[in-house]
Amino acid sequence: MAAFPMVFFGHGSPTVAIEDSETTRSWARIAAGLGRPQAILAISAHWLTRGTAVTAMPAPRTIYDFGGFPELRQVQYPAPGDPPLARRVAELLAPAQVMLDDGQWGFDHGTWSVLVHAFRGADIPVVQLSLDVGLTPAQRLEFGRRLSALRDEGVLIMGTGNIVHNLQLMDWRERYGAPHPWAGRFHDHIRAAIEQDRPDDVAGYQALGQDAALSQPTPDHYWPLLYVLGARRSSDRIEIGPHHIEYRSISMLTAVFDSRPAAAAAA
Ligand code: ZN
Repeated sequence: MAAFPMVFFGHGSPTVAIEDSETTRSWARIAAGLGRPQAILAISAHWLTRGTAVTAMPAPRTIYDFGGFPELRQVQYPAPGDPPLARRVAELLAPAQVMLDDGQWGFDHGTWSVLVHAFRGADIPVVQLSLDVGLTPAQRLEFGRRLSALRDEGVLIMGTGNIVHNLQLMDWRERYGAPHPWAGRFHDHIRAAIEQDRPDDVAGYQALGQDAALSQPTPDHYWPLLYVLGARRSSDRIEIGPHHIEYRSISMLTAVFDSRPAAAAAA
């Protein structure tokens, strides 16, 4: 059996959860093309911890980890958790210590704002992995490499973040306007590194100097991509989904990594 595909989603503003747009429809199409995973391991930009944690409760709650947006507090994503998968993740990441979280966290909007569109039935178990703020980019690639075995067990590994993420320099009047020049350059450079399978260049993004500093002033939204790239296989075809930049400084680039024969992927 071929490894289960993986996806890095560019997730955008929380309100995307209640939108019907070309982006949200494309997430649904991408998910439909994956087939049904046994479970989903979501690596979200919005769970930052010291040390790594994984949600291990049977029924994670939907978390509203942002200010404002009262209309979003109606959104629920009641998918079950998967405590055995949480323990499997901890086993794969050893010797790193992984905290099994049984109540602190749940599903944050990095996860549910995508999944309400991609897997709207909320009937597939979901486990979230936190981002240890102390890891280097190379260590994040290595964590992804260790997690890659899950793909042979039918688990969808999904990262959810943004390749360009600068909230200070967003322009709310220009959702689909031209990106800031530095945002466009950084986005294109990293997209090429993904498509040409150069993960070390993605991990070494700070070599891009000011373009990198402006595109990732706090790199939390970049980190999930590194775990996904670490879990890639040489047989993966890389398909780019939505890839526009919103509000001049938020990249919506979504990438699918799929090693199934093309005919199976299309079926
Ligand atoms: Zn976010």
